[in-house]
Amino acid sequence: MAPPKDYDSIPAFHDKLLRSKRILAVCGAGLSAASGLPTFRGAGGLWRNHDAIQLATPEAFGDDPGLVWLFYAYRRHMALQVQPNAGHHALAAFAKRNPDFLCLSQNVDNLHLRAHHPAPQLRLLHGSLFSLKCSRQPQCTWTDPYNDADPLCPSLAAAADDNDPTLLDASKPLAPIPTSALPHCPECQTGLQRPGVVWFGEPLDEAMLDDIEAWIAADVVDMVIVVGTSSVVYPAAGFAEDARTEGKTSVVTVNMERSVAGMREGDFMFTGDAASLLPELLKPIIGDL
Ligand SMILES: [Zn+2]
Repeated sequence: MAPPKDYDSIPAFHDKLLRSKRILAVCGAGLSAASGLPTFRGAGGLWRNHDAIQLATPEAFGDDPGLVWLFYAYRRHMALQVQPNAGHHALAAFAKRNPDFLCLSQNVDNLHLRAHHPAPQLRLLHGSLFSLKCSRQPQCTWTDPYNDADPLCPSLAAAADDNDPTLLDASKPLAPIPTSALPHCPECQTGLQRPGVVWFGEPLDEAMLDDIEAWIAADVVDMVIVVGTSSVVYPAAGFAEDARTEGKTSVVTVNMERSVAGMREGDFMFTGDAASLLPELLKPIIGDL
């Protein structure tokens, strides 16, 4: 099926943007990739010959918490080395100018908040690399909402050493980290501290999802902007579907991969780097960054 008329026209998009009030954004890994962060997905989804998806599970943490922690310590370190890009800054500036804008993000790297995105207008769907919780949750409810110590503890120092050959050279085996050398939960004393991210097989935060659904249901959503992921892949597809009122809502995709599948009249698709496209797309509201 042919894409809708003017689907990649920036003037047509600006016209719709200026007539839009309630706007939802859903951000994925492509936005972080524009800051230079590895996404650990697809062909590049390996960390030291481990499949990153296999490490991001409660089972992997149960089997070898030291290995999983080293992977996350490395990701924390990497996220601290990069900067929010112009895409993050454009979304943050847009949020400050439009109180009816809500941004959902799958990214756990804290780059939205480092770009000063207003926290009440941001929902971190998959948590944050820089929050900690107890491995015995939900039995133990201990959390630390923000901790950016790098390294988190001495046993994870290798992850914060950019020159440590044992960490960078995947062919060299890592020395196992005993559980006793990992930080324990200060509340129950028996659980381990673990990254405050949602792992594969774990549900998203129910209260947060209820809150997002309530926001979507409160009134017509004029526009859904999907950044750095596909609007036909979950979870972005689900939010776009829930938020769409036929004939009123434009779904706008900003992604490196062009995909016009499933587009409806009034939808837009812009192919390229979110860091250069978002400032241009939001310029009528945010001006020059
Ligand atoms: Zn605990």
